[in-house]
Amino acid sequence: MPTGSLSSAGCSKMPEAPIFDLAGKRVWVAGHRGLVGSALVRRLARERCEVLTAGRDVADLRRRDDVDALYASLRPDVVILAAARVGGILANNSFPVDFLHDNLAIANNVIAGAAESGVEKLLFLGSSCIYPREAPQPIREEALLSAPLEPTNEWYAVAKIAGLKLCQAYRRQYGCDFISAMPTNLYGPGDNFDIASAHVIPGLLAKVRKAMEDDARTIEVWGTGRPRREFLYVDDLADALVHLLRHYSDEPPINVGTGSEVTIADLAWTICEAAGYSGGLQFDTSRPDGTMRKLLDVSRLHGLGWRAGTSLRDGIARTWLWYLDAHDSVVRDARVTA
Ligand code: GDP
Repeated sequence: MPTGSLSSAGCSKMPEAPIFDLAGKRVWVAGHRGLVGSALVRRLARERCEVLTAGRDVADLRRRDDVDALYASLRPDVVILAAARVGGILANNSFPVDFLHDNLAIANNVIAGAAESGVEKLLFLGSSCIYPREAPQPIREEALLSAPLEPTNEWYAVAKIAGLKLCQAYRRQYGCDFISAMPTNLYGPGDNFDIASAHVIPGLLAKVRKAMEDDARTIEVWGTGRPRREFLYVDDLADALVHLLRHYSDEPPINVGTGSEVTIADLAWTICEAAGYSGGLQFDTSRPDGTMRKLLDVSRLHGLGWRAGTSLRDGIARTWLWYLDAHDSVVRDARVTA
């Protein structure tokens, strides 16, 4: 930790009023090729700021030297830390060092580098998996560190908790305006559509596409269909993050979600309808349901004046069209020529 090298003038003081103006600012989106980072780049294009990006070929964020050199060349005023090593349950269990070490290193390098190079505002992105497995639902921000984590993703969660704590520590010790946001389950353009490793929305969209191509009468839905989940369209997340940059400046992390949930069975029917698939669902109960409920309490976010604007039906329809375009599917060709 570079505690000795950081003068009290190293990073900007918290503003008197919690309003931050993005106009004319140089904004570095770390992780701009990912699901969240690419949505942020789309959203920031509507602001009067300059968006800065740097690919993996330019800097390995796990290396402090690379990150320092990047700060020297980009000279950002604002940093949004959306870069992370991410993956599902299988990857987390198989590569614990990668998930713990890489995410700790990225958070440490980018956050410490921001403080030392005089960044005015930093937004760190975590995940709802930082909360205890048995946290009361809907999950409030106060649930952080109140009970044990879900063991299957604790490597990732511990690194994300350390990242948000580092932001809090820089606020307390040096007055840096560093904040953290914890998004719920995300989906949208740029997601991972590989059936074996995808989350449920892109996984089911990929299954629907295959069923339409093969003229199959059903798609397979894992588990009982009874678990409930909250889903946020990634462009809504990007909009919420811009809102938080402007209006939030405090220690606690802020949950970002819709505040509503849906059963997996209802989600699967919505996906079939949005994609125009008239087949049925086949539940494979030999597959795990996972946790039965995961809903964030978003009262703080609502109190700050932001609410999600995209319905699940619309978000899925947009994601479906993006997926067909991106994968140049024969389904789209059939749809266009029909
Ligand atoms: P989770 O929210 O961490 O459990 O992650 P997922 O998005 O992978 O799974 C959410 C729920 O959807 C679980 O109950 C899964 O069993 C269920 N599910 C149903 N069909 C699928 C599918 O095709 N892919 C995935 N990933 N989950 C599915």
